[in-house]
Amino acid sequence: MVLKSTRNENASAQFKEAIFIGLAPDGGLYYPAEKIDFSDVYGKFDSTTPFNTIATELTAAFLKDETDREGAERIVNRAFNFEPVLAEVGEGIQVLELFHGPTCAFKDFGASFLASSMEEFLNEGKERAIILTATSGDTGSAVARAFYGKKNIDVVILYPSGRVSPLQEKQLTTLGGNIHALEVKGSFDDCQRMVKEAFGNASLKEEFSLSSANSINIGRLFPQSFYYVWARMQQGGENPVFCVPSGNFGNITAGLYAANWGLPVDHFVAATNANKVVPEFLENGVYSPRASVTTHSNAMDVGAPSNFERMEMLYNKDVANFRKQIHGDWVSDKETEETMSRIHKEYGYLMCPHTAVGYLAAERYRAKVGNKPVITLSTAHPGKFVEVVDDVLGIKPELPPELSSLLNKEKKAELVENKVEEIEAFLRRNF
Ligand SMILES: *Cc1c(COP(=O)(O)O)cnc(C)c1O
Repeated sequence: MVLKSTRNENASAQFKEAIFIGLAPDGGLYYPAEKIDFSDVYGKFDSTTPFNTIATELTAAFLKDETDREGAERIVNRAFNFEPVLAEVGEGIQVLELFHGPTCAFKDFGASFLASSMEEFLNEGKERAIILTATSGDTGSAVARAFYGKKNIDVVILYPSGRVSPLQEKQLTTLGGNIHALEVKGSFDDCQRMVKEAFGNASLKEEFSLSSANSINIGRLFPQSFYYVWARMQQGGENPVFCVPSGNFGNITAGLYAANWGLPVDHFVAATNANKVVPEFLENGVYSPRASVTTHSNAMDVGAPSNFERMEMLYNKDVANFRKQIHGDWVSDKETEETMSRIHKEYGYLMCPHTAVGYLAAERYRAKVGNKPVITLSTAHPGKFVEVVDDVLGIKPELPPELSSLLNKEKKAELVENKVEEIEAFLRRNF
């Protein structure tokens, strides 16, 4: 698959190169620039098709010039020993649970596929890679788990000090081995900027074979399209609306790709918390990225979503085109709390604050457009956000044992200032 940079028509790379490059040399994001039509591939699936079969078929189609069917099968089967689950919660709304992977969040899908693809393609000319990644919480833990123990690959994770949950922090800082954590005095946007600046330094990037694993990496984005296809097949009936709780807009962009490649979908709802630059843009046509604010749904506290550039390419930078496919909505912390309580009371269903943001936006959209079926994405297990859930509902959701056992492990992280020089110094000390 030939990919191009969002900032330079002429900068192109194959998928297997782009996953190691991460951010394009001009600072843009790789996106599939060819016209893709997967209608024939989608046409082979129905409600009985297993998730891994869908993933393998789509991988084989996407990478048809870069690997064979066996290669696609190897990548997929190494990546996924977990699956999405579709749950009926309330009338006309299905919740697509994406938290049944090793770190109980949807980012496991992208991170596992990326790690598996890198393992597949690493020996083609490159001896090692260092993954540099900024996280607002869940990316880092999913990446850490996906890459833990992988040969010839090290991971350096930057996270905002005091702005991730205690459990998220343990997930980032207790693995050790090839996983290294930098605790940054600043916000997620600072972490993201530092990583971008490090990648902007060509000699540093070259010297340490730096790669990215953020949602900017096309190797994470592409596999996130699989569960939209799977859910659409499961659901079977009238074309659904997909509602996606969004922060950096990687998850929804993958869904938009699936739809633009031929998956029958009615519409998308982009749901945010108070970090609402995209819903505002959809409403008034003005895009004004800014510093993020802290909310209950902290994995979505992003004030300048990276994937906006990919969406712009998809829609030719025309807000009228965006609006044909996406509706925007935002949900306050108070509404998030009310939704978590109400849904628990009415249906006995516990949801994490991110999922609640999506759920309320799904309900409001249904009321607005006359009750179309909506599939809303659940991005994390409620137990990952036990503090918020406990505050709101007075219930401490149980965590799977893999996660709860982390709480007793020792944190190992280096506290650093929010300057790119800190990254370089760390690399020089350690590699
Ligand atoms: C990352 C994350 C999101 C936001 O996903 P984007 O792809 O950044 O839009 C939502 N919920 C949870 C739990 C997350 O970890």
